[in-house]
Amino acid sequence: MKLQDNFGRKHDYLRISITDRCNLRCIYCMGEEGIKLLDHRDVLSYEEIIGFVKFLAPLGIKKLRITGGEPLVRKGVENLIGGLNEISGIEDIALTTNGELLAPMIDKLMDNGLRRVNISLDSLKPNTYKEITRIGNLNKVLQGINIALKKGLTPLKINVVLMAGVNDEEIYDFLKLTLDDPIHVRFIEYMPLDGHDLKWSKRYLSLQVVKEKATALGFKLNPVEGLIGNGTAETWRIHGAKGTVGFIHPVSNHFCASCTRLRLTADGKFKPCLYWQEELNVRDTLNDPPALTNLIKQGLAMKHEKHLMSPGIENQEQGYVRCMAQIGG
Ligand code: SAM
Ligand code: SF4
Repeated sequence: MKLQDNFGRKHDYLRISITDRCNLRCIYCMGEEGIKLLDHRDVLSYEEIIGFVKFLAPLGIKKLRITGGEPLVRKGVENLIGGLNEISGIEDIALTTNGELLAPMIDKLMDNGLRRVNISLDSLKPNTYKEITRIGNLNKVLQGINIALKKGLTPLKINVVLMAGVNDEEIYDFLKLTLDDPIHVRFIEYMPLDGHDLKWSKRYLSLQVVKEKATALGFKLNPVEGLIGNGTAETWRIHGAKGTVGFIHPVSNHFCASCTRLRLTADGKFKPCLYWQEELNVRDTLNDPPALTNLIKQGLAMKHEKHLMSPGIENQEQGYVRCMAQIGG
């Protein structure tokens, strides 16, 4: 069996959500009160996750991303990384984190084979950072970034969800971050996925704005090829900079035609697309290879050609029922 869908797309990348819990409450991700959390018994164990990846690796999965919720709040995440690292065929394991817990955990994560992280950081101003995350502490994230750079956890990517009237005044500061350090800032379009933030259409900004702003500020952007793990980002380098600037624009210009991603949710659902509701329960089939093969075939056959997020989404059918922390961003 090949991990190919009805549109000829081959999948080599699995995003694994290991928890729906989080130490922050970002305004674009969930409401102030948080989300209704999964019962611990419904969350896949590390052994189950490793078993699933062992099954998929010979079928073509080579790249893994560990996400959540906040993956660093789940105990023993380093053991999961260690276990995944031993699976033959897995070439790249990355982790997406809000960075608040990274500094104290970095040694044990790296000792178990973590080689790179994406840190989500939407503001470099303490007050705005607090406004976005509701409870975050910017200093802790900056410490995490500094130590990751010092220890060589690279390429170090910083994900910035751009929002009108919230952090769009900081485009210059984020662009500047790429000049002196090997930091890869990736601006991401705000997606209408949270089901909570009724201000999405007011806050959504096309990333075209960043390009225009960069040019207006006198930065000359040159295209870059070949940054590890850059399937969805259009990548540029400011002339003379050590790092790069990426644009991930799922709303204004989607990249569904070249999608190579599959997802596993914390409660063990195989999800072929972030946007659409379809998902299949993996847990019951983990000890039954023929049933698991069927489930994966069924999942691939369900994959839609594209999502429907666009600047006019409010007038369209909405596919999602869970927010990013529940699906695994
Ligand atoms: N807690 C970790 C973190 O924040 O990096 C991992 C999970 S989080 C759901 C993964 C990514 O999804 C983050 O970079 C976050 O900024 C992004 N995200 C969450 N909701 C989003 C939305 N509505 N639009 C765009 N990106 C979103
Ligand atoms: Fe937590 Fe990440 Fe969602 Fe922020 S984006 S609330 S850090 S899961």
